[in-house]
Amino acid sequence: MGSIATSSKSLDAILKAPGVKNKEVIRLSNGKSTDFIQSFISPNQEVRDPFYVLDLGMVSSLMDQWNSSIPSIRPFYAVKCNHEPTLLAALAALGVGFDCASQAEMEAVLALGVSADQIVFANPCKAETHIKFAASVGVNLTTYDSPYEIEKMKKWHPKCALLLRIKAGDDGNARCPLGPKYGALPEEVTQLLQAAHAAGLPVVGVSFHVGSATTYSLAYRSAIAAAKEVFNTALQLGMPRMRTLNIGGGFFAGPHFEEAAVTIKDALQLYFGNETDLEVVSEPGRFFAETAFTLATCIIGKRVRGELREYWINDGLYGSMNCMLYDHATVTATPLACTSDPTNPKCNGVKTYPSTVFGPTCDALDTILTDYQLPDLQVNDWLVFPNMGAYTACAGSKFNGFDTSAIPTYLACSDPCIGQENN
Ligand SMILES: *Cc1c(COP(=O)(O)O)cnc(C)c1O
Repeated sequence: MGSIATSSKSLDAILKAPGVKNKEVIRLSNGKSTDFIQSFISPNQEVRDPFYVLDLGMVSSLMDQWNSSIPSIRPFYAVKCNHEPTLLAALAALGVGFDCASQAEMEAVLALGVSADQIVFANPCKAETHIKFAASVGVNLTTYDSPYEIEKMKKWHPKCALLLRIKAGDDGNARCPLGPKYGALPEEVTQLLQAAHAAGLPVVGVSFHVGSATTYSLAYRSAIAAAKEVFNTALQLGMPRMRTLNIGGGFFAGPHFEEAAVTIKDALQLYFGNETDLEVVSEPGRFFAETAFTLATCIIGKRVRGELREYWINDGLYGSMNCMLYDHATVTATPLACTSDPTNPKCNGVKTYPSTVFGPTCDALDTILTDYQLPDLQVNDWLVFPNMGAYTACAGSKFNGFDTSAIPTYLACSDPCIGQENN
C-alpha cells in the first residue's frame, strides 16, 4: 500500500513501523471508524463475524496528548490491557516502553524487536520459570512486595534491579482497585528494603498503582507522598539513593487525564522537587487502548414480545464484553446504519423500542444490554460498540465454541490522516 500524508510526527512513526507498514490502513475521511466499518461490510457479504477496528490516528493523538501533558514521564504500556500486535508495534515505534507481567507478554514485546531494557517485569509475584526467562533475555527490572519474592529473585535472577511496590492508600474511587492484592504496607517497608539489600539485590525505586480508571486524581498525590517516604527510609538505612519512581497506570482518556496530569506534576514538584536525576515512569494500559478500538458485531437472532425487542449478537460476555464483569465496564451500542449516516431514515426520528441484547452463548448471564432503546433491527444488521480496546478481547474465552481470540482487527486512521494515498 502507498504512504499516507499526515500532519503528525507520531502518526508518521506509527505508519512506518515494522509490523504496521505492510498492512492495509484505511483512511477515514470523516474521522469515524464506523465509516470504515461500513466500507468493510459489503451488502452481499456472507460472513458476518465480529471484528475490531483499530484507529491508529487515535493512538497517535493519545501519544500527542500524553506528550503535551506529562512529557517527562515515560510510559511503559501495560501489555495485559490489549496485546493486539499492531497496537504494540505502533507504541514501540513511538518510543513507548512495555510493562509485562509474564513470559508470554515479554516474548510478544521482544518479538517486535524491542530491546529487553525497554521492558519492566511489573508483576510483584512471579513464577520461577518466568523469572528464569527474564534473566535469560536480559529483562533486568521487576517489582516486589514480599520477602518470598526476594528469595526467588536471588536464586534465579540475582542481578535484577527491584522496585518496591507499595500500596496506594486512596484507590477506593478506582473502577478496579489493585490495593487488595498488591503493595507493601508502610510498616512492611523497612523489612522489605533491608531484606533485598541483604540479598544483594539493588532496590532502585518505588512503584504503585492507584487502581484502574480512577476518577480521583488526588490518589496519585498521596501515593507519590508515600513513595517519598520510602526513598527517605532507604537513605536512613544506608542504602544507595533511589532514582526511579514508577507511578503505574489508572489513566483514561478525556478530561480526567488532564486533571491527573496536573495533580501528578504538582505532587512531583512538592515531594521530589529537590531530587536530581529522578527518573519518573508510568504504566498506562487503558489510556492508550480503550478509545482506539471499535467493535462491530452482527445480529444473528431476534425475538419480539409485545414492545420488547430481543436480539442475539455474535460476541458477548464470554467474549469481548467480559469487560462488563471483570473491568466493571458499561458498554454502549449503536446500529451501524445510524452511526454511518445519522440522517438515515431508518434511525433519525424513527421509533425506538426497549431492547435486550444477548451474547451468542447458551448462558442467560450472557446478556449485554437490557432496557436499551434501539430502533427495530433485523437479523444481519450490525451493532457497533465504541471504546472497546481496554480489557476486552484479551480476557475473552472460547466458551461454547465462540473463540474470542479469533476476532480479527482491521486498521483505520482517522483525524490526523490527511492528504491522498499515493502509490
Ligand atoms: C494493570 C496494570 C497496569 C495498567 O493499568 P491501567 O489502569 O490500565 O492503566 C499498570 N501497571 C500494573 C502493575 C498493572 O497491573
